[in-house]
Amino acid sequence: MPIDATLPYDDGNIFARILRDEIPSKRVYEDEWAIAFHDINPQAPLHLLVIPRGRYVSWDDFTAKASDAEVAGFMRAVGTVAREAGLVEPGYRLLANIGGHGHQEVPHLHVHIFGGRQFREMIPAARG
Ligand code: AMP
Repeated sequence: MPIDATLPYDDGNIFARILRDEIPSKRVYEDEWAIAFHDINPQAPLHLLVIPRGRYVSWDDFTAKASDAEVAGFMRAVGTVAREAGLVEPGYRLLANIGGHGHQEVPHLHVHIFGGRQFREMIPAARG
């Protein structure tokens, strides 16, 4: 079920628990601002998630409240993760789902990195 991205941050969400190492993840990257790990249900040959260390529900929450240093650090981390995964030359896709219409399921900001195959439609037809 998609979440309501206007709700306050929930410290029990699954990505908060991954950040605290309470549940396992296949981490590929970490720095002061962000961590990245493999999506548990990959939608592409390579499907990574990059999340900020800060407590932000969504892209909206993050861009409204995070410091310039946090925003810059997170953006750079997304680029670095894709670069280190060898995705720059073949190309890749980024996605951030926000709230109900965006079908966001986990209430901690995350950017999906998809790579390893040719993508076509930007958004699958109006089927939802
Ligand atoms: P979204 O719909 O943008 O909120 O996407 C949430 C993503 O988190 C989905 O692609 C899930 O497969 C992924 N996910 C959920 N739980 C885990 C987990 N424990 N480890 C890695 N990825 C997860």
